[in-house]
Amino acid sequence: MADKHINKSRRHAVRMMLASIASVPLINLVNMAAAQAEDLPQLSEDDPSAKALSYVHDASKANRVDKGGVPASEQFCHNCQFIQAAEGEWRPCALFPNKAVSANGWCMSWMPKAS
Ligand code: SF4
Repeated sequence: MADKHINKSRRHAVRMMLASIASVPLINLVNMAAAQAEDLPQLSEDDPSAKALSYVHDASKANRVDKGGVPASEQFCHNCQFIQAAEGEWRPCALFPNKAVSANGWCMSWMPKAS
């Protein structure tokens, strides 16, 4: 009898936990990424890993070529599949962990966001 009560309480607790996780709007997760980006150090163009991928803060200064059907002039970090936040002048990038890249930057790993 006591086991039945404990199992019922446990099921209720698990249901409540799943419901609270499901209620976190996705936009909050995006905003959290943007907020975290503000705390990240900005990637330097002189960083060896940035140099290796020809990263620049200003994409217009990069040697871009048309890629994935996207004209060179329309390629920026903010529309790259590796950018980790939807907003902010400086955002995390999957290729440069623990650094923020300029939304208007570019590197040779640029890939269009999957639609
Ligand atoms: S991988 Fe994409 S988001 Fe990251 S630095 Fe290069 S162009 Fe910018």
